[in-house]
Amino acid sequence: MDISLAIRRTIYSHFNQVDTIFTNDQILEIMVRDGMVEEALTVDDVEGHFQSLCKDGVVRNVGQNFTTMYLKLFEPLQPVQCEECGQIPLYVEEPRNCIVCGGTITQ
Ligand SMILES: [Zn+2]
Repeated sequence: MDISLAIRRTIYSHFNQVDTIFTNDQILEIMVRDGMVEEALTVDDVEGHFQSLCKDGVVRNVGQNFTTMYLKLFEPLQPVQCEECGQIPLYVEEPRNCIVCGGTITQ
């Protein structure tokens, strides 16, 4: 699975409230536990994906402790459907296109 999509689906399933603080470590642990990503994946491997999520305005970085990023959502993610890739959780202000294949979202 695309790593950015795995991160978004994990946030959507476990932390989809604006007042909840979660960390990149928690997300990685869940993604590995649930078999969404390879077991060998490290925090360093996914750092760029989290930075992109911050840059895209999906989450904000509210604290940092060594490699641990403390994150919060601006708004709850909304699940939309890509015909190719399945469920894609998007931030309310993002373009209605699939983040994986770029396809148009059907709802
Ligand atoms: Zn897609």
